[in-house]
Amino acid sequence: MIQNVRGTRDLLPDQTQGWQYLEKIFVNVAERFGYAEIRTPIFELTEVFTRTIGENTDVVSKEMYTFIDKGDNSVTLRPEMTAGAVRAAVQHNLTATGQLQRLWYIGPQFRYERPQAGRYRQFYQCGAECYNSPHPEADAELIMFAATVLHECGIKDFTLKINTLGTTECRQQYITALTKYLNDKKSELSPDSQVRLEKNPLRILDSKDRGDIAILQQAPILSDCLSDESKQHFEKVLRILEENNFAYTIEPKLVRGLDYYSHTVFEFTSNALGSQDALGGGGRYNTMFEYFGGKNTPSVGFSLGMDRIINVLQQIRPEIFNQPGIDCYIVALDKTVSGFVQHLAMDMRKQGKKVITDLQFRSLKAQMREANKIGAKTVIVIGEEEVRTGMYKEKNMEDGSETEISHHFDG
Ligand code: AMP
Repeated sequence: MIQNVRGTRDLLPDQTQGWQYLEKIFVNVAERFGYAEIRTPIFELTEVFTRTIGENTDVVSKEMYTFIDKGDNSVTLRPEMTAGAVRAAVQHNLTATGQLQRLWYIGPQFRYERPQAGRYRQFYQCGAECYNSPHPEADAELIMFAATVLHECGIKDFTLKINTLGTTECRQQYITALTKYLNDKKSELSPDSQVRLEKNPLRILDSKDRGDIAILQQAPILSDCLSDESKQHFEKVLRILEENNFAYTIEPKLVRGLDYYSHTVFEFTSNALGSQDALGGGGRYNTMFEYFGGKNTPSVGFSLGMDRIINVLQQIRPEIFNQPGIDCYIVALDKTVSGFVQHLAMDMRKQGKKVITDLQFRSLKAQMREANKIGAKTVIVIGEEEVRTGMYKEKNMEDGSETEISHHFDG
């Protein structure tokens, strides 16, 4: 038997109902925040990602699905949405005159990671980007947008972790200080972190290695390198969150894996998940437009991991995964009445009812059993008599009452 590729999943009907529920909530929240949808291609020229995400990040150095197409172009299945959205915004002049743009997206992403619970090679993200505001109000808006999606799905006990990387200069200063400190202890670092020290020292802060964690205890911290401007920006974001009752935890070691962030970075985590506990994250990125030849365009974005949110919802909201209820099951007593049954079903559907019929000409008993199993609210049995008179009974399956109906076909 041919099976799906490792790290990908088939989302079957017992799951898709929950996915649709999440998508509806996300789109509804996005509209209430005034965001419009953007759909970009699933693959891009490879440089769209290498230039922006950073050559030395895990995503670019290890995880991209990159291949040469028949025209000899190096293309990559998108590992995230931000770079492609910015590429599109520059290409189509969405921000050239300095206008504010608020965009949302939903779609599959691809990363060649080691599959495990909550980590897939094709996974789904929903997220948003706001272009052309350098102000902390924009950072706060995106955080509140993402948190509102989680709240409205019914996920209450998540943690919002937040940190600031300061301006690009602050960040650079910090990297210098951190590298100096860690260089002295290089031989004690884990092999992975020794490599990171050369290529991307900030990533060492993410290390799960106990030895690394111990060494980091005494490491310089980012907040020591922050300029006044960076501090004020961060304070304002925090104040807005407080004024709107969004709880947060400041996480001085939160840097996030991608190169492009400055100022605010944030992540949502859930206790209901195992080791892959991040529900989503985001941050401010001010320099990405320039990689695509655009003007300096201060931006903020977030993305939520839909697979992980669904995982939590399966635990706390199992009812949303149920199939939508059927209003009426029309039973056909034999083949001769099928024309009438189909016509009646179509009329009722036009009126907005959810109606199904048997498509296998099974016995009355088998059809009734199915109607019960799927919890149809009413059942109509059609035989020769009903066809001849145009009269039939609609039986309420909850209380057993019957309503006599004389049907006039719409045409
Ligand atoms: P990132 O921008 O890498 O932090 O990704 C944002 C969110 O997407 C994460 O917090 C996860 O919820 C989700 N995510 C990232 N990678 C994967 C993956 N391989 N499988 C499932 N979800 C993922």
